[in-house]
Amino acid sequence: MSIPLPKLRELREAFRSLFSAPYTTRFPYAPVEPVDGFRGKPEFSEEHCVGCGACAQVCIGNAIKMIDPEEPVKKPENAVRKMEVRFDMCNFCGNCQAHCITEKGIQLTKIFDLSCFDRKLAVESIEKELIVCELCNSIITTRDHLKWLIRRLGTLAYGNPTLLLVNQRELIPVESGKPAEDLRRPDILKVLCPRCRQTVMVKDIWG
Ligand code: SF4
Ligand code: SF4
Repeated sequence: MSIPLPKLRELREAFRSLFSAPYTTRFPYAPVEPVDGFRGKPEFSEEHCVGCGACAQVCIGNAIKMIDPEEPVKKPENAVRKMEVRFDMCNFCGNCQAHCITEKGIQLTKIFDLSCFDRKLAVESIEKELIVCELCNSIITTRDHLKWLIRRLGTLAYGNPTLLLVNQRELIPVESGKPAEDLRRPDILKVLCPRCRQTVMVKDIWG
């Protein structure tokens, strides 16, 4: 009785594998380096993230959260935005990295060994200082986000009083001051949210 050709091939492979090195890695007994382009744990960069929140909007796994204080903000001088990423909810799609406005604010690392017993530990966050409207205490955005806009706009940033003041206050202390109840022309030069700025401009034009 002759052995069919496919069976002979299988036998040859079986003998060969007996004397060759294992195909699978020895992980977790030995470290393993994932291939280039591997999508692992997403991590924020303290240096490059400006806290704009774009990644939270495009995250399809609902793994990224942008956590702001309640408005109107009670203590504007201490207000921070928390950017949080839950890697137990991440599906490693790469949307956050692809749409990050600075391109390096969040990166999918090569870290893949993410299992843990307590899901509360599967979270990382960074905090960014918030800029708050000097009139109504609503949130404008983070200081780093405005500074990123200023760098992108160059001299055009001087056309916007909020950007101008955020920039100038880095160089020389400029008294912020509270706008008067009844908005007046000088209030244009305050750090204001778009709604308050519109109110000031309309009052300036129409009285
Ligand atoms: S890789 Fe996808 S699912 Fe994971 S945090 Fe980024 S956008 Fe969300
Ligand atoms: S800078 Fe990038 S990582 Fe940071 S909040 Fe914006 S989109 Fe997300």
